[in-house]
Amino acid sequence: MKEQVLKWANILGETGLYRLLCPGSVPVFMLHRVTEGDDGVPGGLTAEQLRSYLHYLSERRYKILSMDELWQSLDEGREIPSRSVLFTIDDGFYDHHDVAAKVFDEFGFPLNFFVITGLLDQQLWPWDDQVAFALKHSQVRRADIDLPSGAIFSVNLEAQSLGKTARELREALKAGPQGELYQWLRDEFFGKLGVEFPSSIPPDYRPMSWADARSLRERGHGVYPHTRSHRILSTLSPTEKREEIRGSLERAGEELGYAPQVFAYPTGRPADYDDQDMEELRQAGFSMAFNTVPAYVRRGLDPYQLPRFSLPENTADFLQIVNRFEAVKEKLRG
Ligand SMILES: [Zn+2]
Repeated sequence: MKEQVLKWANILGETGLYRLLCPGSVPVFMLHRVTEGDDGVPGGLTAEQLRSYLHYLSERRYKILSMDELWQSLDEGREIPSRSVLFTIDDGFYDHHDVAAKVFDEFGFPLNFFVITGLLDQQLWPWDDQVAFALKHSQVRRADIDLPSGAIFSVNLEAQSLGKTARELREALKAGPQGELYQWLRDEFFGKLGVEFPSSIPPDYRPMSWADARSLRERGHGVYPHTRSHRILSTLSPTEKREEIRGSLERAGEELGYAPQVFAYPTGRPADYDDQDMEELRQAGFSMAFNTVPAYVRRGLDPYQLPRFSLPENTADFLQIVNRFEAVKEKLRG
């Protein structure tokens, strides 16, 4: 039933009706990992699926916006084309350069990269991936873990799947203070599970290089900071917040040779950043920041809280967003 409704909604969407009903709204999509299928990338969207989306947009002459074009619309009031979309990809893993950028280049479309500067500097790999890695290589099936929040988390891999345990533990860690999170992972968590902490970043989680990032810029893509360590800003002290925001801006500036003005919050739920973070961004010279609330970008929104849709893994959901059917639903919901 739902499939039939979606099918007809998407057929109607092809006529441009929804775009007509909801002018001035643009979907910003967020990608994560992109895989060729046989390249060992953990999870993620296939390059084939991504190619089919871009093919659709290309065939129908959609305008794929750059960040500058989006800013001109938001700031100067330049009209947002009704057939427009903007794409972003978060974190800075090797497949973002080797796979995702290659697919976008085939179509001549810009992609906007938010990179964790500590990852590109090979100083760390994201804490949520470290959780998954340690559980996957765990030498014990059961353990009681003392979390940084003081709570106890019971791992029981006999009773609960690895994926579910990882998800629950990540949620628990999101809720607690993250100031000492990386030390805790290395010194406490890996030890409790009997896993040796890797001396270098495991292959699945290796970053693109700064040279890759510079090459992306030369090919017309955007590269922007996504903090230094990917810890959740709202859980950090004022000094740590500043290090994450200013520190990542400085590193990106040094390596890329310009001052990026766009930012994306780690994990990006409204609870994951606060007024202090937005003020810090403003003072550091950023003009826009993205969260992960699934909604359209419109003029009049707070430029430091621009929403993004996760890029769907199936075509029907993708079309629903691209053809603004979701915007009509937003409007009806009031
Ligand atoms: Zn991220």
